[in-house]
Amino acid sequence: MRTDTKCIQAGYVPKNGESRLMPIVQSTTFKYDTSADMGKLFDLEASGYFYTRLQNPTNDYVAAKLAELEGGTAGMLTSSGQAANFFSVFNLAGCGDHVISSSQIYGGTFNLFSVTMKKMGIDFTFVDPDCSEEELEAAFKPNTKAVFGETMANPSLVVLDIEKFAKAAHAHGVPLIIDNTFATPVNCRPIEWGCDIVTHSTTKYLDGHDATVGGAIIDSGRFDWMAHAEKFPGLCTPDDSYHGIVYAEKFGKEGAFITKATAQLMRDFGSIQSPMNAYLLNLGIESLAVRMPRHVENGRKVAEYLSGHEKVAWVNSPELPGNKYYDLARKYMPDGTCGVVSFGIKGGRAAAEKFMAGLKVAIIATHVADAHTCVLHPASSTHRQMTDEELAAAGVGADLIRYSCGLEDARDLIEDIEQALANV
Ligand code: PLP
Repeated sequence: MRTDTKCIQAGYVPKNGESRLMPIVQSTTFKYDTSADMGKLFDLEASGYFYTRLQNPTNDYVAAKLAELEGGTAGMLTSSGQAANFFSVFNLAGCGDHVISSSQIYGGTFNLFSVTMKKMGIDFTFVDPDCSEEELEAAFKPNTKAVFGETMANPSLVVLDIEKFAKAAHAHGVPLIIDNTFATPVNCRPIEWGCDIVTHSTTKYLDGHDATVGGAIIDSGRFDWMAHAEKFPGLCTPDDSYHGIVYAEKFGKEGAFITKATAQLMRDFGSIQSPMNAYLLNLGIESLAVRMPRHVENGRKVAEYLSGHEKVAWVNSPELPGNKYYDLARKYMPDGTCGVVSFGIKGGRAAAEKFMAGLKVAIIATHVADAHTCVLHPASSTHRQMTDEELAAAGVGADLIRYSCGLEDARDLIEDIEQALANV
């Protein structure tokens, strides 16, 4: 099946007489005839469900769809994108380990890595995604366990050279994890370029309608854990909490990573997505392949309009031919990137705030990447505790406006921008 068809058909496949749409299994628990039957589940000897904190059939249908869309072998849903990125790294690295991350990542992920996971004893090195192969090479340490990046970074829209990062990670016997939230599997499938584990904030385009917070992890099933067993004891040595199971032996390359994340991390941290949210997420994914081209088209039209406006100081969109990442974007996302555009207007912070207040179609919201066009001025909202100097150092200038094109008619978006700019 092609991507568009998978968006509709993959995951839940009804049998004779079953409901066409996946059932919402809104149940915390599952019934068994004998304790022995249930015991097999606890020993991971049989697959099945016993408690929704770990797994639920509705979630698994959607995770299976995402795994097919990304070209992976197994997937899991999490309660948020934050939980997905946390699990993806913590499944491999623990106290005393080291992880390399692109410096151009979502601020919440940066905080998770640099503050919270640092407190857990995991050391992170942040590298400029545009660094040379030699600079990337120099970031590795003997205790490095993974490399992390975003296909297209939020909010800088820097495009990651996935092959460069995959090559470096594999040369050091560690997997590459990529957060593919902004591109979605419709526009980029990082596994095809050498990525080993894909994560998502499904809150964004995958849901696409401002309805549910969620996350996902998809394993390519390609990384050979046993070939690097000394680096990954959690996958390659017995797990005492599951009667000495060795995940990489019992579940192979295809299943070890997600089984361990479910059996250990979901069991202990309990960041499961609710089945109702998973159901809503699936409805969003069904139209993803139809929606993404419209987001891209609207983003391109808005970026082109802004580029020609005398009151606009700068525009950042990999859809524009002059953009630094235009060529990388064409390589990894030939059908287009996403609908997010960032720009600054002459007059800096004050002008940005006035412009935003004048918008009538785009709404001010701490969100991106859904059907409703929304706009954010980080300097006066998500980043308001930072000085102008600190903002500049973080690559989020005081004038930066993040404009996320929804699915509306681009002419309405442009007319809205036009009238708001006229009053600045
Ligand atoms: N990854 C990216 C690229 C994001 O943009 C976000 C949120 O904006 C997250 C992860 C975190 O996702 P969530 O808000 O679903 O926890």
